[in-house]
Amino acid sequence: MDVLGRADLLAAHQCERRAWLQHQPPVSAATPPIYPRADDRDAVRDAARRRYPGGTRVPNHLPVAERLAQTWAHLNDVRVPSIYDATFESGGVVVRAAILARAAGGFVVVEARSANSVGEAHELDVAAVAWVAERSGVPIVGRVLLHMDSEYVRTGALDEAALFVAVNVPARSFADAEAALAARTRPTEPDIAPGSQCSRPRECPFRSHCTPGEIGAYSVARLPRAGRLLQELRELGISDVRQIPADLRMSPSQRHAVWSLTHGQEYLGQGLAPALANVGWPLRFLDFEACQPAVPRWEGTSPFQQIPTQWSMHVQHRDGRIEHAEFLHTEDSDSRAAFVQSLVAAAGTEGSILVYSNYEATTLRSLRDRLPEWWSDLEGLVNRIVDLLPIVRDHYYHPDLHGSFSIKATLPAICPGLDYADLAIADGASAAQAWLRMIRPELSTEERLGIRSALLAYCARDTFAMLRIRDALVARAGG
Ligand code: SF4
Repeated sequence: MDVLGRADLLAAHQCERRAWLQHQPPVSAATPPIYPRADDRDAVRDAARRRYPGGTRVPNHLPVAERLAQTWAHLNDVRVPSIYDATFESGGVVVRAAILARAAGGFVVVEARSANSVGEAHELDVAAVAWVAERSGVPIVGRVLLHMDSEYVRTGALDEAALFVAVNVPARSFADAEAALAARTRPTEPDIAPGSQCSRPRECPFRSHCTPGEIGAYSVARLPRAGRLLQELRELGISDVRQIPADLRMSPSQRHAVWSLTHGQEYLGQGLAPALANVGWPLRFLDFEACQPAVPRWEGTSPFQQIPTQWSMHVQHRDGRIEHAEFLHTEDSDSRAAFVQSLVAAAGTEGSILVYSNYEATTLRSLRDRLPEWWSDLEGLVNRIVDLLPIVRDHYYHPDLHGSFSIKATLPAICPGLDYADLAIADGASAAQAWLRMIRPELSTEERLGIRSALLAYCARDTFAMLRIRDALVARAGG
């Protein structure tokens, strides 16, 4: 008999078809990131356990039978106030409670989440563990979900009582999931149509399997920021952009997209050339990366506060010369002062600073408030910023953008052959987690250097992408 876990139970609770697909090896779900968010979860879990001190841990590496036996031994030992990684089994489903706290009349299942708020998906996580534990014979008298308190500011040692907000979760039944799990070994795939269950409580990883061909060349799903518009089009029975009435209310970028998809070619607005020309030389393409630890590591910081750790700058001179400068903080310390000092020195006082999104301006303003001694330098940088994103969004569209103006979508659409596919780290969330991993003291030099190279390559790709995107657009717009 294969061992099922909480993920299987929750998948079956969401959709019987998902439960079935999860057990079919050839059907692939979305791939997890290279550097998962596990490091951060470890820090949150450890802080939560310090809220329930003196507990005994059931080692994860032991066989299931051994873990179950140890859990029951601790349950029956009143001297053990809490059990960490308590393991339960019922109906072939094995689950683990991060914390099982002894209380009057029974036990409380406690889980901590690396988030500033919690929703239905998080509540189901805890409820599922409690449901299995209860069915295995444990008297469960409460379910508690801990999440980070965004108002908390670290002063001195970490205060685990103030760091978390505790939410009581009501009991839920997963009897429907049990039936779905029992049906997962049937030879034929359940005939269940995609619907609201596909994104509730979590996005299902089998979307592309269940909705093949939904995104055709003329599909309205390719329109940018189309949530409300899609709903309206669905009500009108329109799925093809060529059927959209000319007088339907749409944003300018949606109108450009309709034109581009209908004609199968890129849209170039008349305002593109003047918007791109409104810069001062040399052009400094700038990108930041940041860490955002769930558990504040440094004095004066809060859960998930973004601490900039890295910048990359490609400098393009009017004569065509290109230079590159970069900074990466590599120590387990507050990086902000070193970040600002190196950036101000590299940016000089001349030339536009080109970015892609308002993130860099927001970060500089927050650094300006935090480090008043750098106020005028940082204010000077903010005043030189030119954001390429609204220029692209307002004056350009390409059918390959698939509704997204992110730099990852824009680069290959505008500059075929260039993308992020060769990078070990290819998105900001992975970069933030990789940085937190890189500063762990127990990491081997080899792994640390590998992450360092991957981080530098990723940030440099962003600024090089901006440079190439602008060059390509200038050429297309006849500049
Ligand atoms: S995409 Fe929707 S229908 Fe398909 S398995 Fe997932 S939840 Fe079920």
